[in-house]
Amino acid sequence: MSEAVQPLAEEELKPEKRARELPEENAVRVRNVIKKYELGTVTVEALRGINLEIRRGEYISIVGPSGSGKSTLFNMIGGLDKPTEGRVYIDEVDIAQLDAYELAWLRCRKIGYIFQSFNLISVMTALENVTLPMIFAGKTADESIQKGIEILTIVGLGDRIQHKPLELSGGQQQRVAIARALANDPAIVLADEPTGNLDTKTGLEIINLLKTLNAKNGVTIITATHDTKMLDVSDRIFHLVDGKIDKIERRDEIKLQVGMLDGEEVG
Ligand code: ADP
Ligand code: MG
Repeated sequence: MSEAVQPLAEEELKPEKRARELPEENAVRVRNVIKKYELGTVTVEALRGINLEIRRGEYISIVGPSGSGKSTLFNMIGGLDKPTEGRVYIDEVDIAQLDAYELAWLRCRKIGYIFQSFNLISVMTALENVTLPMIFAGKTADESIQKGIEILTIVGLGDRIQHKPLELSGGQQQRVAIARALANDPAIVLADEPTGNLDTKTGLEIINLLKTLNAKNGVTIITATHDTKMLDVSDRIFHLVDGKIDKIERRDEIKLQVGMLDGEEVG
């Protein structure tokens, strides 16, 4: 391994940075988060006081129209951007307290990211795309390749590991992105409109794959969508309207709603 790559050690999140007064089972806790974007003289308030808790192992869908603040909320939870006000806790660690190195550790090891446009590296094979985050995390090439093949097999691409993104269908590319997100065994996977560029059937396959991974290895999944057909696997649905949580539905309340969509059965 090249000396330039600094492995991020497991113990980097220091115990004194953990909030002690609160229950440990929350994977994510968002407190009074406000995010404002200043554009010249105009201020856009993308998030207007978000409060939520997500428990470990939950499958959460965040649903809301375009512009309601889903991606902004993901950027806050994923430590990719900072709130204007409020706090985000990952495993009860206030991420605003982390230094640059600890934040890098969080992004590399604790959270897996999946995007609408897949964001794969086009000159790299599926396997290379999946092994890259493991190399960053300090795994050897051999370990990374072995694990990469394993995960690609789990997502149904065992026979496509040497293909480059453009030699794969949209659904297959998103499977590579899922494999990449899982490479370092994250506790949380954030998927921002993962089915947005896919047809309904392929989209449902991707959602069901995410659900299977959630059920099998307990990874907490938080996915944003504006497509109500993608909600059926959710434990809870957070409805975002104009930068605020409008309502939260639980699993037992969801079936009814889903059955009513466009008069069409979804399953
Ligand atoms: P969604 O993902 O639900 O479509 P976004 O979080 O992308 O919504 O956007 C929420 C609001 O914030 C929108 O009004 C959008 O125009 C605005 N916004 C998002 N990102 C930026 C940015 N970087 N600069 C300025 N405004 C932004
Ligand atoms: Mg968005």
